[in-house]
Amino acid sequence: TYDVHIIGGGLAGSEAAWQLAEAGIHVRLSEMRGGGDTTPAHETDRLAEMVCSNSFRSDDAENNAVGLLHQEMRSLGSLIMAAADTHRVPAGSALAVDRERFASEVTSRLGAHPNITLVRERVDELPATGSVIIATGPLTSPGLAESIARRTGSDALAFFDAIAPIVHRESIDMDICWMAARWDKGGKDYINCPMTKEQYETFVAALNAGEKTEFKDWEKDTPYFEGCMPIEVMASRGVETLRYGPMKGVGLDDPRTGRWPHAVVQLRQDNALGTLWNMVGFQTKLKHGEQVRIFRTIPGLEKAEFARLGGIHRNSFIRSPELLDNELRLKCQPNIRFAGQITGCEGYVESAAIGLLAARFAAAEARGQSLAGPPSETALGALLGHITGGAEAETYQPMNINFGLMPPLEGPKSKKADRKKLYTDRARRALVDWLKRAEYAPA
Ligand code: FAD
Repeated sequence: TYDVHIIGGGLAGSEAAWQLAEAGIHVRLSEMRGGGDTTPAHETDRLAEMVCSNSFRSDDAENNAVGLLHQEMRSLGSLIMAAADTHRVPAGSALAVDRERFASEVTSRLGAHPNITLVRERVDELPATGSVIIATGPLTSPGLAESIARRTGSDALAFFDAIAPIVHRESIDMDICWMAARWDKGGKDYINCPMTKEQYETFVAALNAGEKTEFKDWEKDTPYFEGCMPIEVMASRGVETLRYGPMKGVGLDDPRTGRWPHAVVQLRQDNALGTLWNMVGFQTKLKHGEQVRIFRTIPGLEKAEFARLGGIHRNSFIRSPELLDNELRLKCQPNIRFAGQITGCEGYVESAAIGLLAARFAAAEARGQSLAGPPSETALGALLGHITGGAEAETYQPMNINFGLMPPLEGPKSKKADRKKLYTDRARRALVDWLKRAEYAPA
């Protein structure tokens, strides 16, 4: 017998199992690898296998949002962070690990825990009853994905991400850009970056020449293009194509000239706080360095700081802001929680962090208590808030943790370098308060 059923033993499911087990809750952990199944990216049957890079990114908790997330997870007894710290390899200020030892350690610690039953099985249906956490990741098996789509509505589950870059609002030069909607319809909702003919043609040439990332073999034949064609593919179809698509300038009077610009790049608000803006229609497979170089030639974005760069990958994720409540429960079937990358967070650390929170909520529920989520000033709370309501549901795309997900700093504007420290100091104070309120000492 068990109290909570976790499906998927990746980064999120492993952390969730540990948190619940340590809280004295009995867990069944179902992992299909090792039971005759695998995914196109995993190579072993170890739990918490890192499928690509061996890095948990920056470990700087003073100046970096993911470093802060590491610190918060450590203070909540994270197994993923403990195993990463034990098997750390030199990588400057980043936390990189020996991936085999890391995953072996997670596998053996979960396997040895008296409150965990690890079952090597594939689950094809969303369980109708019992407390469940779905943590099957970006490569969720097709049968279960179908079951999720049936329950949530098929347009609520994406199989590819089509990520347009997201820019920090404060890095946009509003002396060049202006706010307006096309034909003045519906307020002044967009930030518009105007381009002359010459600037536009140079930009299209740069897109065509820019270095692109290749699709992996197993990604190639899945249809993904409908309505989300990469910007460089559009550019390659002819110099005017973008001007008839996302970059059309018609209906937008530039206040500096009183005329429509030859072409325009539009940005749309991406989070409720208004700190993050996405480049409309700019999903791309250009290499990250190329994106920064080329997109900073756009008038007004010369000093753009990117909260996220564009990309297109195979990635199953649900439209969480619409589907999940603030405890990560499926609103239409609240015995089911989601955790990890399938919620639309992005990355090993973020996935494990959401696994941690899903488990803390499930543990409180199993005890007949309720737990308020961490405040949005913390990295954990910011990530949770983004997934469960802060992001725009319609344009929801996977996201790493970043300071733009936190409420803006109050008080006079300080230098960029100092601001990061102000964010992390504020986060530490907020976490301490929350831990006190939630009486959150590990069980
Ligand atoms: P996973 O770690 O993928 O775990 C999901 C688990 O569920 C898997 O073990 C799977 O076998 C199991 N499962 C699936 N369906 C079922 C089922 N029906 N029944 C039972 N078990 C099931 N992130 C980074 O931070 N850095 C990177 O370099 C990076 N590279 C990536 C490269 C690729 C090709 C992909 C696909 C993703 C990459 N990611 C990377 C994202 C990475 O997958 C996530 O960050 C992280 O692994 C997600 O954690 P998760 O627990 O949500 O999913």
